This record gives sequence, C-alpha cells and structure tokens, in this order.
Amino acid sequence: MSHHKNYSDLTKSVHAGVSDNEHLAVVPPIYQTSTFKFHNADHGARLFSGKEDGYIYTRMGNPTVEALENAVAELEKGYKGLACASGMAAIHTVLSAYLKQGDHVVCSEAVYGPTNTLLATIFKKFGVETTFTDTDDLAKVQQALRANTKMIYVETPGNPTLAVTDLEEVAKVAHAQRAILVVDNTFASPVLQKPLLLGTDIVVHSLTKFLNGHADVVGGIIIAKDEESYKLMRKTLNLLGGTLGPVDSFLVHRGIKTLAMRMERHCQNAQKIAEFLDKHPRVDKVIYPGLKSHPGYEVAKKQMKCPGGMISFEVQGGVDGGKMVMDSVKLCQLAVSLGGVETLIQHPASMTHAIMGREQRLEAHITDGLVRLSVGIEDADELIADLDQALNKIKS
Ligand SMILES: *Cc1c(COP(=O)(O)O)cnc(C)c1O
Repeated sequence: MSHHKNYSDLTKSVHAGVSDNEHLAVVPPIYQTSTFKFHNADHGARLFSGKEDGYIYTRMGNPTVEALENAVAELEKGYKGLACASGMAAIHTVLSAYLKQGDHVVCSEAVYGPTNTLLATIFKKFGVETTFTDTDDLAKVQQALRANTKMIYVETPGNPTLAVTDLEEVAKVAHAQRAILVVDNTFASPVLQKPLLLGTDIVVHSLTKFLNGHADVVGGIIIAKDEESYKLMRKTLNLLGGTLGPVDSFLVHRGIKTLAMRMERHCQNAQKIAEFLDKHPRVDKVIYPGLKSHPGYEVAKKQMKCPGGMISFEVQGGVDGGKMVMDSVKLCQLAVSLGGVETLIQHPASMTHAIMGREQRLEAHITDGLVRLSVGIEDADELIADLDQALNKIKS
C-alpha cells in the first residue's frame, strides 16, 4: 500500500503491509521456512552482494516478517521496521547499534523496569553510563546532559506513573547535543502518537501489547526513520539474532487490522473509568493523562490523538486495600502485561515491585495502594460495576 500513504489509520490498520504476492492471496501467507533457494550460483552471489533484492535465510529476512515490518513502518510513517523476538530484544538491538564504551545515556525515570535494569547492569558493565531523570521536566533533561551524551531514551506515557514527555521539545534538546532521541511508543501505539513526526530518530515497541492486542504473542519492533539508520540496525539485529518468527509475525499482523478501532475503544473506556474512579470514596488519586489533574494533560492533548488505555490509581487501605481489590474483581483479570482486548489489573506493591523494598519503591512513586489497570474493550459500564463492587470491599 506504499502508494496509499495518505489513508487514515483506520484504513491503514486493515491494509498496511499487505502487498501483491505470487498467488494474489488477500492475506500474506506464512512462509514457514528457515532458508530460500537460489536459481543458480550467480543468483546467490547477487543476493549476497546486495545487487539484487531477495530472501536468503529467515534470520536475515522473510516475506511474512517483512509484511509486518512494513505495516508498522507505514503506521509510524517511518522508513522501515525491524521485527524482533520481544520488546526487550528490540531495545537491546537499538542500544547495541548506537552505543559504545564511554558513551552516556539520559533515560526517563518512568521507564519499563527491564529497560532500566538493562541499562543499569549489562550496558554499565560494557562501559555505558546512564542517568535516569524525569524527562517530562526539560530542565532536568538539560541538567543530566554530559559532553558524551549520545542518546536520550524516552518512554511516554511512562510506566507506571504515566508521565508525559514533550517529544518535540526533548528532540530539540537531543539534537542540539548531537545525540539521538529513541522513543518507546508501546503505551500509545502508532495510532495515538507518531514520534517520528515530532523529531524522534528511532521508535521501539513491544508488539506484545497494543499492536498485537490479543495477549497471545511476545514480540517487538524497531522503526527506523531513514535508510542509513535502518541498515545499521539490520546489520546489528542479524548479528545479535533476536528476530521474530513467521507465525508470530502473521499473528501480530492480523491483530493490527483492528488496531485503530481498538485504540478508539480503549481510550473511550479508559476516560469513562478514570472519571468514575476519580469520584469513588475508596480511591485517593487517579493518574490518567486524560484528567485535567494530570501534570501531562496539556502535552498529551498536543501530541496524542487520545490519552490511551492505561490508568494508575491509589486505593485506600495501603497494601491490604490493594490486595483486597485484586482478590475481589471478577471481570478484570489479575495479570501483568497490558494492551490486550481484555482488562488486566495488577498491584505493583505486592507483585511486580514487591522485591524492591518499601523505601526504594516509594522513591519510584510506587505507593502501597497503587493499582495499575490496562483497560480492555469490554462494555465500560460492566467494567465500572466490577471495579465498584471490588473497591467497596475495602474497609473505611
Ligand atoms: C512490555 C514492555 C516492554 C518489553 O516488551 P516485551 O515484549 O515484554 O519484551 C518494553 N516497553 C514497554 C513500555 C512495555 O510495556
């Protein structure tokens, strides 16, 4: 569909990445093969030298995987995509392609936990230093810069505080420093936010979340803005080896057909639920960029189509209050991960962040009663009724 670049995201979600193929299949077939034949020795030589396009070996490229890569690249308005075995494989590939010993990174404080640990342990071990700071505060970003800062890495909205970073502004800061801006766009999806149009150099996603949307695949993707960046990262991915297989690529591509439609419903439901929680007597605080009380409300309005499907809220009764809600919900499912059609709920203090220790946890803004909700596409009133009966079990 490369000749249909101006279609809306609703139309693109359905058609992006689907190109004509040998048998005119409406859906790209699953090429479940590890390797591809050459017509003859010269053909093989031309493919290896890059003089002719074609497939050689699935780690280096596969038509089913490429169809997915093209679909996400079209939605992000980027040059090309690189599908990876997981979101972490995508992040690791970008960091490996662009950083070397002695370099410095400025990274959002509100960032996916394993991204923080990857930078703070493995990349630190290889001589890359990282400063974690609130990237929604430009003065703090400026303060964190050093002469050797090569990358600013931003997640927006961030995890789990939903901090919103102004991408246009932080891109200016990065480029004045001759550093690149990398954005994890997982929480927004390309339908709600297009970082490359706001000056970002590289976008990464966990495909596991909204892009696939059906909680049945783990995958990741990188979107490059130009050929030079794409070639560097493709070479890196070929060597690191964290590529996505054809069947998983097919499933994610199928999930994307409803992406724009799903995101609309995620946003409508989340707004309605956030407003309900905001008035509930057992809820002390609601964190959602679609509420005027959120510090990122204006920036979210400027750079996002709508504020997304993730809500964090603080219930009364501390850790016990949080656990009571977890044990009382019937429709919301108690599980980590996010972005699927089903509503998921989790309690960081007793689950994902329990090993952190209370003091460190509070420093990271993860309070005792904090609950994280990934709002699905079910009936909003039925979700509200479920949350209401669970919240009412907390003793006042
Ligand atoms: C889940 C997630 C990741 C990691 O993705 P995996 O597919 O689990 O490896 C990275 N960033 C964000 C924001 C995520 O939510």
